[in-house]
Amino acid sequence: MNKQLITLPSPDLRERSKKIGLISSDVADLISNMETVTLEWEDSRDHEVGVALAAVQIGVLQRAVVIRKDFNDKQNREFKVFINPEITKYEGEIVYDYEGCLSVKDIYGHVPRYSKVRVKAIDEHGKEVRTTAEGFLARVFQHEIDHTNGIVFVDRIHDDEEAFFVLDDDGKLSALDYETEIKNNEQLWQTE
Ligand SMILES: [Zn+2]
Repeated sequence: MNKQLITLPSPDLRERSKKIGLISSDVADLISNMETVTLEWEDSRDHEVGVALAAVQIGVLQRAVVIRKDFNDKQNREFKVFINPEITKYEGEIVYDYEGCLSVKDIYGHVPRYSKVRVKAIDEHGKEVRTTAEGFLARVFQHEIDHTNGIVFVDRIHDDEEAFFVLDDDGKLSALDYETEIKNNEQLWQTE
């Protein structure tokens, strides 16, 4: 398998992925491909970390997600694997924070998410995992599980005129003008 990263406006990113049945060697290949793509992306960027990826982002419509083991240490290039992940409970409060996506070039959003979620999934060996995530990890799970359901983060802030930002060459975020740069941006929104 040698799949490449896909980005908006690819319509695949708005498709719902299918549940994975047997954890076969095909799934192991898929996971390995996802990890490679994430790390290659990170290595090509100066200011960003490849935090996580869903299979749909390499054009494979299966419910698999990989999440970096340590967001704060780029040297740690290991991932945790979540197959058929689902949120079983939303907890805490709604919090806003900046969010980016490998499939949305250069645009960041100020996105509302729950501060705490409970997640159920299976790992790469087919073993059930249950975890409670808080803070940034809770955000990452909501973002990635959205991907498995065909939702991109920009869809969560579609009408929020203050929520869109661009990452400049120095790694700083600056606000984008909603009317001219976002509202009718054909890269972002699906046109019927
Ligand atoms: Zn994403």
